[in-house]
Amino acid sequence: MYAKVIIDITHEKLDRVFEYSIPTELEGMLKIGMEVFVPFGMGNRRIKGYIVGFSKESEYEPKKIKTIEKIVPKSVSVQSELVALAVWMKEQYGGTMIQALKTVLPIKRQEKKKEKRYVRRLVSKEEGQRKLDEFLQKNQRARARLMAALLDQDCIAYDVLKKEQKLTLEVVQSLQKQGILEILSERVYRNPVKEYQGREEKLVLTEEQKETVETFLANERLGIRPVYLLYGVTGSGKTEVYMEMIEEVIKKGKQVIVLIPEISLTYQMVMRFYKRFGDRISIINSRLSKGERFDQMERVKNGEVDIMIGPRSALFTPFDNLGLIVVDEEHESSYKSEQVPRYHARETAVFRAKMANASVVLGSATPSMEAFYRCRMGEYVLLQLKERAAKQRMAEVYTVDMREELRAGNRSILSGLLYEKMRQRLECGEQTMLFLNRRGYSGFLSCRSCGYVVKCPHCDVSLSYHNNGKMVCHYCGYTTERPKVCPSCGSKHISGFRAGTQQIEELIRREFPSARVLRMDTDTTGGKEGHEKILSAFANGQGDILIGTQMIVKGHDFPNVTLVGILAADLSLYVDDFRSGERTFQLLVQAEGRAGRGEREGEAVIQTYSPDHYAIVHAANQDYEGFYEEEMEYRMMAGYPPCENLMAVYLSAESEDLLEKAAFYLKEYAKRIKNRENVQIIGPSAPYVGKVHDIFRRILYFKHQEYGILIEVKNKLEEYIEINPGYQKVRVQFDFNPMGGF
Ligand code: ADP
Ligand code: ZN
Ligand code: ZN
Repeated sequence: MYAKVIIDITHEKLDRVFEYSIPTELEGMLKIGMEVFVPFGMGNRRIKGYIVGFSKESEYEPKKIKTIEKIVPKSVSVQSELVALAVWMKEQYGGTMIQALKTVLPIKRQEKKKEKRYVRRLVSKEEGQRKLDEFLQKNQRARARLMAALLDQDCIAYDVLKKEQKLTLEVVQSLQKQGILEILSERVYRNPVKEYQGREEKLVLTEEQKETVETFLANERLGIRPVYLLYGVTGSGKTEVYMEMIEEVIKKGKQVIVLIPEISLTYQMVMRFYKRFGDRISIINSRLSKGERFDQMERVKNGEVDIMIGPRSALFTPFDNLGLIVVDEEHESSYKSEQVPRYHARETAVFRAKMANASVVLGSATPSMEAFYRCRMGEYVLLQLKERAAKQRMAEVYTVDMREELRAGNRSILSGLLYEKMRQRLECGEQTMLFLNRRGYSGFLSCRSCGYVVKCPHCDVSLSYHNNGKMVCHYCGYTTERPKVCPSCGSKHISGFRAGTQQIEELIRREFPSARVLRMDTDTTGGKEGHEKILSAFANGQGDILIGTQMIVKGHDFPNVTLVGILAADLSLYVDDFRSGERTFQLLVQAEGRAGRGEREGEAVIQTYSPDHYAIVHAANQDYEGFYEEEMEYRMMAGYPPCENLMAVYLSAESEDLLEKAAFYLKEYAKRIKNRENVQIIGPSAPYVGKVHDIFRRILYFKHQEYGILIEVKNKLEEYIEINPGYQKVRVQFDFNPMGGF
């Protein structure tokens, strides 16, 4: 037996796995993730490494292979757990061991960036003024300059003082000694807890919330730590429930990871946790550099943090006594990584929790098909909140058939009903959100007169319109001509939907000249800060109407919003993706959930060309289970996840010729290896964007009931690709149960 060992995992140069033989005294004792001493290099220096796998054979001459010395004493560290997690991820999602390790472990950068320092005034303005007078009197001009600057601005970067005020560190330190100011490192400065004084009282839980928490606590006391799905309607107070559970877990000296989609990582959200838990929390987000992320992880290793909040990568926080992982908005597609390994944070959280003997709480108002299916199968425990926390009613929802509007001569983007309701809101000073469902925007064609959508006869997904005038199915490659008139009703009004948020803003300004209109989409926000600014402006009542894409659906609580308008609800329905029904349902219900969170009741208007589509009907009724049943029938019939498993293989290359050959031979090889198992192979087909930056792309799909069988296929294909020179210039990536993809 041989062991694969990876060495020095905290450095960027991490790039190889070494083979070592296993001495007889260690046989049967070694496990994946374990830390071992091995001889390394010319001088056989003794260094530490981690075991990432085993093999019966070796490519090298047995004589040349060195032997593992021994297990590092007390090596059951969190590092080992993360290495084992990486091994699992590599197996589960494909890619190399190095890619998996780099995803899981914080990599130290070679040169450390110097930390930026800030100087902050500690004394009151009056006291500062007195000091300034004193310095001027004593003719201490440098000190006076510093004092004056700090009276102007409470907190200034040290670099600025040095450059603009020509101040030295000694001057700053002399005022520091007098207690006039403090010097903050960037890390401390960033920590918003410092700014916050005092904590708030806990809310009294509702009966439903209490029951939910009780179930968790009872299990916790018995040491039973399952995966829970907290399915609670919008505004039911899921966060309050998480916090209650978290408090219990950290009381026992354990740590907690809270995953939230990057988009809902707002100041408002974070403050709720600060108010409750103070500075024992830490946040990571995508704006942190590698070095900063590393520093955060160091804080964790030093035991300074109990709760880590962040998007999917927070899952790899090196807590050594993990008690709970919360995955808020678990249905969000941002939990799926778009880089190799293309892991799903929900599944990975479940696996990490199992290793650490921790609980998992998945939360959503619109659970993913996967999570709800697992509840039905008895794998997850269902916890339910059926009512809103402050007993507000759910929004009243109206569905408007836009085909009727066209027939009645209304060609505007706004239906008569929505226009009228918006006018009423403006009159009584309440707020409206207009949500343009643009997520699915991809080239499908639909009929404005009857709602007909051109679909693939084999796959039950909509066909995409390519610029060459052809309609193509991205699952099977089926191709047909673009119809000139609607195949169903003969109307000429068959086209794609082209309006963007900007056009809508212009229209709204024309229709309601006195209204204050805010718009939020990727064009206007300029990154996360801008995004937050627009949301707070709206929350503070600086706007009457907020127009936006799916970005506005999450994040803030707007108590004064009593109307939500959903424009083109069907746009996401006909993307060529088997999840389009699910996504549409989720988006609509989440959007409806924005209305009526305050004291006044809310209303929502759904504008659609397909009012009879089950996703829209159930969304209008806010009937999750009804939707689930119907969607599940479709998934079952078409053999899509969660009933069956789907593995996508993405191929890309500069040469289309080479790419096509590579895809062809890969499929041929796959046919030969999979015979016994009856794996279904679909494709190769070209994705919607068939070429990006002159790189051509193709997709192959593999379908089978069992995930494990697909893993076997993946492993064989990976081997084939590695030894076959034809794939040197072709990039191949695997994506299991894809959520957006290529
Ligand atoms: P969800 O995430 O389920 O949509 P939130 O956790 O954001 O809901 O809670 C919605 C609102 O209800 C928040 O403003 C929250 O402060 C409030 N809330 C939650 N629980 C209670 C409670 N027990 N009593 C009163 N208000 C509550
Ligand atoms: Zn038609
Ligand atoms: Zn098809």
